[in-house]
Amino acid sequence: MLAYVLTRYGGADAMELQDVPKPIAGPGEVLVKVFAAGLNPVDYKQREGAVRVITRPRLPLVAGSELAGIVEAVGPGVSRFATGDRVFARVDKTLLGAFAEHAAVHEDLVALMPRSLSYTEAASLPLAGLTALQALRDELKVKPGTKLFISGGAGGVGTLAIQLAKYFGAEVTTTASPRGEELVRRLGADAVVDYTKENLAEVLHGFDAALDLVGGETLDQTFKILKPGSKVVSIAGMPEPQTALKDLAAPAWMTALFWAISLGIRNRAREAKVRYRYLFMHPSGEDLKFLARLVSEGKLQPVVDSSYPLEKIGDAFAALEQGRAKGKIVVTMD
Ligand code: NDP
Repeated sequence: MLAYVLTRYGGADAMELQDVPKPIAGPGEVLVKVFAAGLNPVDYKQREGAVRVITRPRLPLVAGSELAGIVEAVGPGVSRFATGDRVFARVDKTLLGAFAEHAAVHEDLVALMPRSLSYTEAASLPLAGLTALQALRDELKVKPGTKLFISGGAGGVGTLAIQLAKYFGAEVTTTASPRGEELVRRLGADAVVDYTKENLAEVLHGFDAALDLVGGETLDQTFKILKPGSKVVSIAGMPEPQTALKDLAAPAWMTALFWAISLGIRNRAREAKVRYRYLFMHPSGEDLKFLARLVSEGKLQPVVDSSYPLEKIGDAFAALEQGRAKGKIVVTMD
């Protein structure tokens, strides 16, 4: 089968289209004929080796974090899915495998995709949707009336986070450039700050909670707009320093840099009297079922920026790496 393989850590040429053996469904796994797979920044960060201390993949491997398709076969012990089911999944973080014509995925990570969606739309949901859900529901415990700030509302995660936050009853302020303002307002944002013109710390204050999708200076400004004792969850800042110790094969300079940046962020949060937590989303078929239900009820809608055939995945990555996508970029296999 055709697959996009991560051969080594490096630039764009470190991933290449190759003919590889079709996987088989092992115990507890379903074999999915993949029709669409979503791209995420983690895929190129993975390629660059930037998240190796967290995901620890064994190279070479088929890249790709999320997919939608049809169950072609089930492995021993599979009880929840059958041949012919239309499914979607955020695949295992270490094994990956979504940028391919077939993928074997454990049934715990899979859910039936919403009937109303195309494969392209369904493939855009798992990673970003689970991230937004786990941050808002489990970490920030957003409830009716929460005054919530979300940075970077126009991207893959932001477009879903705004809708989910509104579903949980929050009052949502987000950031977008003029290119994304109309979109984030349509998705439900109550107020929008143009991050290209305004310093957040000068124009916003008094938030109960924040979800940081941007990191860097934006995260530092976010610390300053919250009520004392409030919580900031970031998916783009830096994980706990201890994470750096997990990969003994990582170069010492990488571990040291990781450690220093991470401690710096924590110190700045402490100075601003806010609580900081880095979230690394986890794959979950149960949580995907929750998202599928919201889609069926008309409360959540995927936002697809563009789609490319698998043969043009290099162009899809070039577009993603510009960092300007409005919603998600997807590759299709049909
Ligand atoms: P995208 O590539 O989809 O984000 C692109 C969007 O970001 C564009 O619409 C752009 O808008 C907007 N943007 C860029 N810079 C800024 C800025 N300074 N302020 C506000 N908006 C900005 O990324 P994702 O949404 O998929 O992911 C966001 C981040 O979260 C990435 O770093 C990703 O790696 C990380 N992530 C982490 C996860 C975890 O589990 N820890 C899970 C998922 C994602 P415009 O064109 O208007 O500038």
